[in-house]
Amino acid sequence: MRLIMMGPPGAGKGTQATFIAEHFGIPAVSTGDIFRANVSRGTALGVKAKEYMDAGEYVPDEVTNEMVRNRIQEPDADKGFLLDGYPRTLAQVEELDTMIKSTGHALDAVVVLTVDQDEVVERLLQRALIDGRTDDTGDVIRRRQELYGEETAPLIEVYRDRGLLIEVDGMGQVEDVTQRIFDALDVVPQS
Ligand code: ADP
Repeated sequence: MRLIMMGPPGAGKGTQATFIAEHFGIPAVSTGDIFRANVSRGTALGVKAKEYMDAGEYVPDEVTNEMVRNRIQEPDADKGFLLDGYPRTLAQVEELDTMIKSTGHALDAVVVLTVDQDEVVERLLQRALIDGRTDDTGDVIRRRQELYGEETAPLIEVYRDRGLLIEVDGMGQVEDVTQRIFDALDVVPQS
């Protein structure tokens, strides 16, 4: 399975990505998590990414694309992967197409979690209290939502046109959302 998980900041992508990846026996690749791991280890990539992340801006495409390319070339991604938080721009969509094509495979589905924006801001502010993510503050959350609307939401139509889109209601109990995603994905033929 080669899957993408999309949705606005706070939609619960990361939580659901973990369950889905486990269900299909594929790695969940979260660009946000990889950036955060690099920030905490103080790597060159982390230093580069941090200024963008703290401002709620996207890390430049070249940086993100190279990171994803390296990650999905690792052996555990041979049988597939679930991308969480990538692609977020049209340039990333094109780059991902090239990466997947070169492996002789194809993308199987794109899951989009639909949520209520106000409720999501509440979730993010709660998360800030629990894990202290430095980008979960009012202003930065608004900027991330704005960028999602401008740069990432348009990708939904791109994948809809390709017949790959699966829209799932992301509101309600975590396990109910997971079940909805499984129900939708279990009927997707795997390439
Ligand atoms: P959220 O979806 O809540 O914004 P993520 O953990 O997915 O959180 O991403 C956190 C930050 O990491 C983003 O605001 C951005 O700065 C950076 N980032 C993650 N994925 C990408 C990407 N595909 N392209 C550019 N920047 C990214």
